Amino acid sequence: MAKGVWIVAEQREGALRKVSFELASTARKLADQLGEEVGAVLLGSGVEAMAAQLGKYGVDKVFVADNPALEPYTTDAHAAAVAKAVKDNDPSILLLGASTQGKDLSARLVGKLATGMATDCTDVKIADGKLLAIRPMYAGKCFGEVVVTGTPQMASLRPNVFTIVENAKAGAVVKFDPALDAAQLKTKVLEVQKEAAGKIDVSEANIIVSGGRGMKGPEGYGILEELAKTLGAAVGASRAAVDAGWRPQSDQVGQTGKVVSPNLYIACGISGAIQHLAGMSSSKFIVAINKDADAPIFQRADYGIVDDLFKVVPALTVEVKKLLA
Ligand SMILES: Cc1cc2nc3c(=O)[nH]c(=O)nc-3n(C[C@H](O)[C@H](O)[C@H](O)COP(=O)(O)OP(=O)(O)OC[C@H]3O[C@@H](n4cnc5c(N)ncnc54)[C@H](O)[C@@H]3O)c2cc1C
Repeated sequence: MAKGVWIVAEQREGALRKVSFELASTARKLADQLGEEVGAVLLGSGVEAMAAQLGKYGVDKVFVADNPALEPYTTDAHAAAVAKAVKDNDPSILLLGASTQGKDLSARLVGKLATGMATDCTDVKIADGKLLAIRPMYAGKCFGEVVVTGTPQMASLRPNVFTIVENAKAGAVVKFDPALDAAQLKTKVLEVQKEAAGKIDVSEANIIVSGGRGMKGPEGYGILEELAKTLGAAVGASRAAVDAGWRPQSDQVGQTGKVVSPNLYIACGISGAIQHLAGMSSSKFIVAINKDADAPIFQRADYGIVDDLFKVVPALTVEVKKLLA
């Protein structure tokens, strides 16, 4: 019988991503309820040293495949390696991050493992011995409960939503051979283009200052950059701003952009269209600055300022600077 709550840990350039700790802490909670162990699959080249860190967040066994073919990430190699580890060990639950990499990998894995999956979950629990996954639907207007009947029961967890819990344990390392053959490795990474140094990715930011059509043009974002720098925040954008060429697509928040869950989301000159809300409504606190008191964003905002953002944002930056001084 399938046993064990597993995660696929994410690492980039020698460091585990925050979502890996969120996955490990959540898996620990589920495994304790089931009386099972937590396993993590860790893939890459020279990654073994990172395994100990996962133990600190509740992982009992880290299944490590250290292989140059697993660095940098490719869908083919990683899906083949995770599928091998899962087939050999038969865990009952497999959790991944609903991050860019996790979304890419899970789609291929579901096919390889011939199971089902709940995507982009904001909560997971155990009910009647099975995984019960809770996920927003219709752009966050309601929540659906999903039970996967295949094995393993797969789910991807929305980054920044699940609490990280430290655990004193040290996980054991189990090395495995991913048994990759040339026929499985159809993709080759020719070049990795990096974002400008120091730029915070919206999908990983704790605070996001986001601008929409109300910014009037690319130069309008200067005041948002300044506020973001003061707060240590990332700058996001609505699709209207991205389509106008004011901001790069990588900054877009929403249904066809990134789904974000920061602690604080400051929406400036954004009306709050349903497709935008789909990407940010699970933020912990939402502040909206808009000169139209009837803008739909105010229905979702915890705090709202009805005024011209070109007056409000610089004033806010001054106040934040004073507070931080
Ligand atoms: C299939 C599909 C997918 C989509 N995906 C996305 C997506 O991923 N992300 C996304 O954002 N959109 C998406 N959209 C587009 C979405 O429907 C909206 O068109 C878009 O979000 C509007 O962007 P906005 O709020 O910046 O612009 P607007 O709706 O034009 O709002 C601009 C706001 O700025 C305010 N404003 C103007 N000047 C000022 C000022 N000086 N001070 C204060 N406030 C001011 C106005 O009152 C207004 O509320 C999608 C649409 C479709 C059909």
